[in-house]
Amino acid sequence: MRSLHFLYHELRPAKSRYSYVTPCEEFGTHCELFARLRGGGTENAFRPEVTFDDGHASDFTFARSILERHGLSATFFITAGWTGQRTGFMTWPQLRDLHAAGHRIGAHGMTHKLLTGCSAAELEVELQGARKRLEDGLGAAILTMSLPGGRANSRVFRACAEAGYKQIFTSVPRAESMREDPTIVGRLNLLGGTSVEWLERALDPGSGALLKLERVSRLKYAAKGMLGDRLYARLWAMGNRQEPETPEVGGTASEIPDSGASGL
Ligand SMILES: [Zn+2]
Repeated sequence: MRSLHFLYHELRPAKSRYSYVTPCEEFGTHCELFARLRGGGTENAFRPEVTFDDGHASDFTFARSILERHGLSATFFITAGWTGQRTGFMTWPQLRDLHAAGHRIGAHGMTHKLLTGCSAAELEVELQGARKRLEDGLGAAILTMSLPGGRANSRVFRACAEAGYKQIFTSVPRAESMREDPTIVGRLNLLGGTSVEWLERALDPGSGALLKLERVSRLKYAAKGMLGDRLYARLWAMGNRQEPETPEVGGTASEIPDSGASGL
């Protein structure tokens, strides 16, 4: 039996032209499907798991109630340095509430720097620093980390392990075995405008859709390596609907998806 983790970013009540925004109503239809598949056994489908990156305020104001209406919980990966600091992101009381309601909290760096470009000192802040700040703020152990922009290499994975993280969540769309606890967990990034029918195909192992997405994702990752992160980010922003105020930290931290909700 295998699970498939989905990655969301921000929810808004209305449709948005920005790729990283999922309308609340659309998220509700996704949750309905996830609850149905989880309730009815998963012998003919991957078991869906929900994750969110960045720590947007909408995790608390919108996602929580929609998830709970469908009996679901999610993992929220938080950019620790933005909590209680940045408009549009959760406050500490909101994050504590989400955690107390039974949702899982993981780290997403301190300032969302792409880890592959970090010095040893920067890695310490982004990994150990983020974990400590979240643990102090929540009074709970933080053992999971999701990689900003999905960027990783063997040095980053090693640094994550040294910083005490037990599971690292990537943006490579891949189903994972549920028998063992995998150290590296793939996820399928969902952009706004993803239909339930598209999700059903992705969750159907027989459709081959997920394997196709994984191949596309690996090609895109290779393109990033050849072009360099900054050039790739500019090209991606031109070809996609990237929000102008997408936070950039240190000039290289804009979020770039590793798989789009297209191509099936
Ligand atoms: Zn992010």
